[in-house]
Amino acid sequence: MTDVTNGEYDAFLEALAAGEGYYRSCENGHGLLPPRRACPHCGDRNLTERDLPSAGEIVTHTTVSVPTPQFEDDAPYVTAVVDFGGVRLTGVVRGIDQTAVEIGDRVTATVESNETDGERTIVFRPAE
Ligand SMILES: [Zn+2]
Repeated sequence: MTDVTNGEYDAFLEALAAGEGYYRSCENGHGLLPPRRACPHCGDRNLTERDLPSAGEIVTHTTVSVPTPQFEDDAPYVTAVVDFGGVRLTGVVRGIDQTAVEIGDRVTATVESNETDGERTIVFRPAE
């Protein structure tokens, strides 16, 4: 990855942390996240920036007990894919009992540090 794409992803995380998340939408309505500049589904490069809805729904979740080294001290933890209408985000679920996480749970996306090395990561917490 080049510095430019890292910069775009950092900017996305900063906006998300500030409650101003966004995503990009192609002309066919597919959602994608920075730093992508072309739609992974149809190749369209004519992208529009849209506001990320404040809450989404968990579509899949997995409990990770044997993590990658980057998340060693975080385990066990739950990762989830969350559908925000136009786009899906992947992140770590916090604030919900791990055995109680269910498909359809409403969550908001934010950015927090992981326990292992303090790197920023996308985190989902229960929506109000
Ligand atoms: Zn597309």
